[in-house]
Amino acid sequence: MGRRIAFISEHASPLAALGGADAGGQNVYVGEVARQLAAKGFQIDIFTRREERELPEVVTFSNNIRIIHVNAGPPEDIPKETLLQYMPAFKADMIRFMVQEQLFYELIHANFFMSAWVAMELKAILGVPFVVTFHALGHIRRIHQGSNDRFPEERIAIEEQAVKEASLIIAECPQDREDLMKYYHAPAEKITIIPCGVNTEELYPLNKSMARSLLGLPYNERILLQLGRMVPRKGVDNVIAALAKVKNGDTKVRLLIVGGDADTAAELARLQQLARELKVGDKVYFAGQKSRQELKYYYAAADLFITTPWYEPFGITPLEAMACGTPVIGSNVGGIKFSVADGQTGALVPPKDPDALARKITALFRSPGVLREMSNNAIRRVNKLFTWELVARDMQAAYERIIGSNVIARPTDFETAQSISL
Ligand code: UDP
Repeated sequence: MGRRIAFISEHASPLAALGGADAGGQNVYVGEVARQLAAKGFQIDIFTRREERELPEVVTFSNNIRIIHVNAGPPEDIPKETLLQYMPAFKADMIRFMVQEQLFYELIHANFFMSAWVAMELKAILGVPFVVTFHALGHIRRIHQGSNDRFPEERIAIEEQAVKEASLIIAECPQDREDLMKYYHAPAEKITIIPCGVNTEELYPLNKSMARSLLGLPYNERILLQLGRMVPRKGVDNVIAALAKVKNGDTKVRLLIVGGDADTAAELARLQQLARELKVGDKVYFAGQKSRQELKYYYAAADLFITTPWYEPFGITPLEAMACGTPVIGSNVGGIKFSVADGQTGALVPPKDPDALARKITALFRSPGVLREMSNNAIRRVNKLFTWELVARDMQAAYERIIGSNVIARPTDFETAQSISL
């Protein structure tokens, strides 16, 4: 019998469709980390809020992984900003399940601040230690979003308390660690940097012409790809504004935007309106949400992947693009400045600066040799530093610092990873 670990991910289930308002990187992270740890012999239960009445309580996700749908609040999709009130019910239902099944977990891995609140309660009641990955920090969100941030005031106090009570804090990149130390006074020795990863069996290089032909895209255009949740902080408007300024002779430049669902209809409408106003409505294509199986074709079809958020706790999409051999132009922020090697696997630009982005796109389109080299470098860098296998190896080592082990796993030295160019 493997060691039993509970993941809590209150709003982000690995079973959800991705790319709307609230489902994205955290959903992928929880599913992929669990899968890799299960392959190492851990038994993992992922506790997530029931968002549909019809869902069974327990779903077998894969070998050694179960998803437990917890009753907490109405069984429907609810914006994550309003979920904190249901966390006492989440805790109570989770305990009911554990008692009913006579389960004891050696460790809890909390994801996001509300799960951390539940983990703190379980620690107090049952004595189970926890590690936490915040995925995003309330302080940072407040700085960037101001009064548009609709999370409750208590968020920051809960994060501060979780920093005190967690046995270990997983920072996703050096910026995340700095933020945890600066804004939350997290002690350095309590933080370990473990980045996100990419599934190289799902996302890998493909022939560009083949990908375009499968998607019905033209061969004789330059294609920029933007892919992710359609929320303002992702800066999709910045990419549209840059498109209007890109100079590429007679060759048409198309911007393909993947992501967005009914919940983000207002944001999609705003982006469409902006494209019309900037007279690039005929060059911007909204493709909607895509499944994991389809993503590689979109990444491979593009000449460049663009992501220019205002801030980014990690950002899995640049890794996915690089795994498919597509160079990335990203904002020089958060996890992106960690994953994208400027000038080697793509380029870094300031956020909210369409002129700078347009200049970079124009320059790279004029240098096909550089683009080819960046593509090769991107594949190498991702495979060397950012696979879920590597993430899980480090995660296992982190867990073992808390629960002990006979097997000593050696963690990747991500402290120095920034200086590794490829
Ligand atoms: N995604 C997807 N289909 C879509 C849009 C997005 O599968 O239509 C996935 C994307 O591939 C990535 C995740 O959603 O794995 C977004 O993660 P990221 O870390 O880039 O951003 P976050 O959602 O955490 O802000």
